Amino acid sequence: MPTRIFMQCIALLLLSMLAAPLPAAGPPLLLIHATIIDGTGAPAQANMTLDIRGERIAGIYPDRSSPVPKGARVENLRGRYVIPGLIDAHVHLTGAEPDFAHYLPHLHAMLRGGVTAIRDMAGDDRLIAYLAGQANSDALASPDIFYVALMAGPTFFTEDVRAQEASAGEPLGKAPWMQAITPTTDIPLAVAEAKGSGATALKLYANLSASLVAKITAEAHRQGLRVWTHATIFPATPGDAVAAGVDTISHSPYLVWEAAPKVPDDYRGRALGDFAHIRPDAPRILALFEAMKQHGTILDATLLPFADEARHHSKNVGAGIVPWSYAVTKLAHRQGVLIDVGTDSSGLPADAHGPELHALPSVHAEMALLVEHCGFTPIEAIQAATQVSAAAMGQAAQRGTLAPGKRADLVVLTADPTRDIRNTGKIMFVLKNGRTYRPDGG
Ligand SMILES: [Zn+2]
Repeated sequence: MPTRIFMQCIALLLLSMLAAPLPAAGPPLLLIHATIIDGTGAPAQANMTLDIRGERIAGIYPDRSSPVPKGARVENLRGRYVIPGLIDAHVHLTGAEPDFAHYLPHLHAMLRGGVTAIRDMAGDDRLIAYLAGQANSDALASPDIFYVALMAGPTFFTEDVRAQEASAGEPLGKAPWMQAITPTTDIPLAVAEAKGSGATALKLYANLSASLVAKITAEAHRQGLRVWTHATIFPATPGDAVAAGVDTISHSPYLVWEAAPKVPDDYRGRALGDFAHIRPDAPRILALFEAMKQHGTILDATLLPFADEARHHSKNVGAGIVPWSYAVTKLAHRQGVLIDVGTDSSGLPADAHGPELHALPSVHAEMALLVEHCGFTPIEAIQAATQVSAAAMGQAAQRGTLAPGKRADLVVLTADPTRDIRNTGKIMFVLKNGRTYRPDGG
């Protein structure tokens, strides 16, 4: 083995040992005297005990209402707050780091920052599938990873360098996770190939007609895949996607196209909506919200990337996009549309040198935007980042709330998040699948 590769393997091994969690097996873990915010939107409950057995929550009850199980490890959480593990419902992992070894500290930083699961919304599934296999079996200190296979009209693959990079080495538009779809495509076969990449869902991205969106969505559901779409799959409109039965739709500001006189021919104009003249409460947008409620479509709002883009590259987005995206999200929330928390980022904030491994994951900032600009209470923002994000990922039965039978994915906070949503960043420790991870790396 050449020395350089040997040294890289040793470095990887050391990194994974550093990140190795305490095992989930062993005696029951009792978290006592905790204040619990369970992720369902219910008020905080003080003086509660969580009984954790292995990878699951076995019970939640008022302190001292049940005898301490024999041999239990007891952790006193008086003055601490417990929320479900946070889920970033819109991440793009691949491309964020220069090489494979960099993903280990990256994923570990997200986990110790309170993120116990992520939904990857398109990238190179060869790498994502490998990381997901390691993360979801707890071989890596990482949030669990669920991901998509992308479909779009053929011109997308020649126009968009990201698709070319994410399928390098494969014929353009023919990789199972990056497929070009035309009216003559064998849709059942294309969906089966996408499913073979290990994805939980299809991501519909660009240049698809309403009739193709309907066909693909029906076939994906028949084969047990979810459909997580961009709002701007022009010529299909957001309303066409919702009518087709997609499970989630991404990017609040792009809902502007539902009320535009016509949608652009080219998806690359998607951020240049007429935010100055189209009102967030235009009748067609309100009708879209009604349809979303009927279908149970989740809005993946992703406010943070637009705020960043407007600040740093204002020419790339329509004037007024930020206040418009806040207003439409506030309205959707008030009308009862389910909204998840996604950051459309690597999961971590970035500076000129790349992701910041010592910063809090971006999901905390997205939650703060919901509270500070979109009329969410802190309890509702926590629900969005836990219960609703778990539902967006197709994982509602397993995670997203604190309840008996659910996975033991939770975050213990040292300050009250119902007083200040930014207290979700004050982390004492994180449990994922019953294993403990501490912010100092332990
Ligand atoms: Zn995205």
